[in-house]
Amino acid sequence: MSDIKQVDVLIAGQGAAAFAAGLYSSRYQVNTLIAGEQFGGETAIGGTIENYPGQPDIDGFDLMMKFKEQVDKFETPTAYSNLKSVEKNGDVFRAVLDDGTEIDAISVILAVGRERRKLLLPNEEEWTGNGVSYCSICDAPLYRNKKAAAVVGGGNAAVEGAVLLAKYAETVYLIYRRDKLTRPEPILLKVLGQTDNVKVLYSTEVTELVGSDETGLTGIRISQPLEGEDELTIDGLFVEAGADPRLEIPNQLGLEINPDTGEVHVDKGLNTSVEGVYAAGDLTDGTDLKQTITAAAQGAISALSAYQHVMKVKSNQHESAAMAGVSGD
Ligand SMILES: Cc1cc2nc3c(=O)[nH]c(=O)nc-3n(C[C@H](O)[C@H](O)[C@H](O)COP(=O)(O)OP(=O)(O)OC[C@H]3O[C@@H](n4cnc5c(N)ncnc54)[C@H](O)[C@@H]3O)c2cc1C
Repeated sequence: MSDIKQVDVLIAGQGAAAFAAGLYSSRYQVNTLIAGEQFGGETAIGGTIENYPGQPDIDGFDLMMKFKEQVDKFETPTAYSNLKSVEKNGDVFRAVLDDGTEIDAISVILAVGRERRKLLLPNEEEWTGNGVSYCSICDAPLYRNKKAAAVVGGGNAAVEGAVLLAKYAETVYLIYRRDKLTRPEPILLKVLGQTDNVKVLYSTEVTELVGSDETGLTGIRISQPLEGEDELTIDGLFVEAGADPRLEIPNQLGLEINPDTGEVHVDKGLNTSVEGVYAAGDLTDGTDLKQTITAAAQGAISALSAYQHVMKVKSNQHESAAMAGVSGD
């Protein structure tokens, strides 16, 4: 007997989009497998989540546990291994996981998210969620009445983040390595100019994170001293240097990529350019609002499309088998 696992729907990822897809797919009663090495995705490492409706102020890890437990009720299996390769093979997609498991799936949902660009400084990873953040839209309200925060970057997200943070923290430093902000939209630059408590530090880089494992981040060192000081005391550092969608599998499948955003292009059913392959969450150009709730919503929608594809393929196979039976008489 073949060792190749047969599933109706293979879901790559273990974040909000993947678990929501797994929940809906399981409820459609199609044979589903979730595959991903790391539990919880970005939500699980995001610290306190304040904006997931119905779950105020929940730790991101706990929220993802709730997502997973809801899927587990259907006894839908999870393989703790990443998807390494996928190719189309007749009616199915032949997938291989990092641990060597081979899977034939009728539909594939890609929910593998994005890779945040990092500063690559010591302690950055350890203090993520404890003073270091990669999402100002998500975490800015946590800085209400705090003395100071800093944002690193020079694009729209960095300027938007600084302006938003300025509504909460007393002082916000926007730290940019070049001598001029050229990339943000003019309207954002206008708002930035009108926001008195944002200080833009040009031609400046963060050289060191200051703090301890107990306190988390308490400050940063910068390459250009500000008023003679090369250390800034801050409550939070937001790295808004961009994020790269994980395109390895999409490229293997030849999926259409949005040339403006570099994300997997999807339609409103989260269909990609290859029939039977769906994409959900931060990986896609489905929405500019990259959040847990939108990832979950896309996961749910992608599961419906994947289910409909499974039904179509099975019905075609059934018809072909019936025809073969008739002609074989
Ligand atoms: C610090 C931080 C704080 C945040 N705070 C908030 C917040 O307060 N509120 C909010 O709504 N949003 C917040 N976000 C954004 C939110 O976390 C993301 O929008 C959401 O996690 C996107 O979900 P996703 O499932 O698309 O991707 P992810 O959560 O990134 O999940 C992707 C999954 O795919 C896995 N994977 C990668 N490669 C493979 C592969 N080859 N095969 C299988 N699996 C793979 C990853 O390990 C991961 O499990 C925050 C993000 C960060 C970084």
